[in-house]
Amino acid sequence: MPEIPEMENYRSMILRTVTGKQIAGVWVERPKTINVTIAEFTAALHGQVIDNVTRRAKLLVFHLRGGLYMVTHMMLDGRMYYGAAGDSEGLPGKPHVIIGFSDDTRLFFCDLGLGFLHLVNSSGLERELDGLGIEPLSPEFTLGNFTGLFTKRRGVVKPLLMDQKLIAGLGNAYSNEALFAAGILPDRKIPDIGPGEMEKLWQAIPRILREAVSNGGYIEEKYAVWDNRSGGQIPHFMVYDRGGEPCRVCGNPVRETKLNGRWTYFCNICQH
Ligand SMILES: [Zn+2]
Repeated sequence: MPEIPEMENYRSMILRTVTGKQIAGVWVERPKTINVTIAEFTAALHGQVIDNVTRRAKLLVFHLRGGLYMVTHMMLDGRMYYGAAGDSEGLPGKPHVIIGFSDDTRLFFCDLGLGFLHLVNSSGLERELDGLGIEPLSPEFTLGNFTGLFTKRRGVVKPLLMDQKLIAGLGNAYSNEALFAAGILPDRKIPDIGPGEMEKLWQAIPRILREAVSNGGYIEEKYAVWDNRSGGQIPHFMVYDRGGEPCRVCGNPVRETKLNGRWTYFCNICQH
């Protein structure tokens, strides 16, 4: 599932390609992807200009000039693609919603599955973003706020790192990486983790996310024919998706197991 670096990668490319352009056509191939009728959706978007795109957690928010917002979540397999009307061979999946612009380019939302595209006003936007936790790349992500999230919690560390109500936008890949960087095994219980280890974990999270943003995230599918950036994070992963491969620090095979239903990767020499 795309996490902060992947959504930031999409955001920067969307800002470069579609902001300031007028929407000239809307095609909805899968009605359950949107929250209103197809007629309402197309009527509201037609003629609008996308002024800005922001991110909160794993959501992207398209700011439309008329005051409405389009909120999208990719969930597991959702991908976006930008191209010309005839570029459909390069699509990363089945297009569920297509937004066309007056210069004849198109933004394709593919394979959204449980993902969505919701059209909302400002109070609707507040509801969409309600209850999300701290952004790890924001100034609010202080050591005090981070450790405060875990006081009185007795659970296992990795599922808590992925809890969107605590930390927003951190998912499976980067929680594995942050725990490796901090030398903490993913199934450790919170009360058994010392303050020094918590501080290492707090430092690792934004550092790893920023590195992955600058590497282009791990989504391999291209955003456009010219996109040679997406997926650049993959060779930099220390443990994620590297089960059985040698640990980049000690050479022992990276372990792979399921924890709370999610594939979990760690080195039992480098992590304690
Ligand atoms: Zn190791």
